[in-house]
Amino acid sequence: MPLTVQKFGGTSIANATHIKSAAKRVIKTYSAGNKVVVVVSARGRMTDELLELAYEINDRPSSRELDMLLSTGEQMSSALMAMAIHSLGYPAVSFVGRQVGITTDSFHTNARIISINANRIMEELSQDKIVVVAGYQGVDENDNITTLGRGGSDTTAVALAAMLKADICDIYTDVDGIYTADPHIVPEARKLTKISYDEILELASMGAQVVHVRSIELAKNYNVPIRVRPSFNDGTGTLICKEVSEMEKIVVSGATVTKNEAKITIIGVYDKPGQAAKIFRELAKENVNVDMIIQNIGAHGLTDVTFTVLKGDLPIALATTERIKGEIKAKKIIADDKIAKLSVVGVGMRSHCGIAERLFSTLSDEKINIQMISTSEIKISCVIEEGQAERALIAVHRAFELDKEPQAFTRGA
Ligand code: ADP
Ligand code: ASP
Ligand code: MG
Repeated sequence: MPLTVQKFGGTSIANATHIKSAAKRVIKTYSAGNKVVVVVSARGRMTDELLELAYEINDRPSSRELDMLLSTGEQMSSALMAMAIHSLGYPAVSFVGRQVGITTDSFHTNARIISINANRIMEELSQDKIVVVAGYQGVDENDNITTLGRGGSDTTAVALAAMLKADICDIYTDVDGIYTADPHIVPEARKLTKISYDEILELASMGAQVVHVRSIELAKNYNVPIRVRPSFNDGTGTLICKEVSEMEKIVVSGATVTKNEAKITIIGVYDKPGQAAKIFRELAKENVNVDMIIQNIGAHGLTDVTFTVLKGDLPIALATTERIKGEIKAKKIIADDKIAKLSVVGVGMRSHCGIAERLFSTLSDEKINIQMISTSEIKISCVIEEGQAERALIAVHRAFELDKEPQAFTRGA
């Protein structure tokens, strides 16, 4: 019998009415002859509210206790979803991550799934029950509750789909699918019918929160087809799948902007071998994830090094660089947390040129200064001033004609 994993995000189950209509969707799939595993997020803004409450009580809450707290949002949703299914006359049973053997590492608030023991789920499915699992959580080997990072319910859903060899993983959300840019920022954004794992991986890593980055890594590794679908209508959404040759004709398939990074510049670093190694070794020791890095050509034996880190890591990154300032003989350290990173992504970039030029010209026409640039095979990112983020995204979306069907752009490229 085919098996479907259906994941419902926070807005899709925000209140009783939404939970009931999500339950009807589950039952429709079940009644059509599928085994169904449902994964639920916390309702509405529940996770944000729990976080706000935690920080009201303690400005540096323990990450273990945060996980104890945050995981409850998903637990509530799972019980409510099972009740909604019961009220419609169908069998369902709810579980938290720990009960279905989701084991993670011990990185509280950002844990990774290590293994899943699917026996319990299989047993319930074999009794024809709909299994509802609280997303976003697991347990480490010392029996501490962990959470998988913001947006992590998608990863629970894909991990279960991979483990159970599901035929499809449907991610129900508050938009009609994956668009060429966030439709809440770019009204003319176009919904994509299909997108490759690599493209959505880059878009999600660069800030498109529509799906959790790690869920895509898993889906790609285990070949799990994902559909991102609307919960509030019957649209077919966007299929995330392996790259097919037709995709290469589309040079740029999406654009995104993120404001979650900050920039540090170390001015007047003594220009000799081993300096960069020293800086980034010390940052790595503090678990600071560095994203973009640029080092200028040295002059008079001195050089400047600029890099970006997640905003939340800025205090520790600053403290670390200040600590080694003397050792690397740096003159000054400057931080800027009012930056945004704009990215354009497309597998077609591998075989087309001129993308960087078009991107830079567009920003120049908008009088937007580029502070940093980084590229990968299928992506170009620019750091710009935070206040210009939305305007830049709209302009770039227009310049690459992302609102038009791809053939139009291909001819123009
Ligand atoms: P959920 O609660 O269902 O997990 P999320 O808020 O995590 O939903 O993700 C859905 C949101 O992602 C949308 O409301 C939209 O604003 C945002 N988003 C960002 N980039 C994109 C994109 N390229 N396509 C669609 N949605 C996007
Ligand atoms: N509830 C968690 C969050 O808001 C996880 C999720 O929704 O996927 O980040
Ligand atoms: Mg989400």
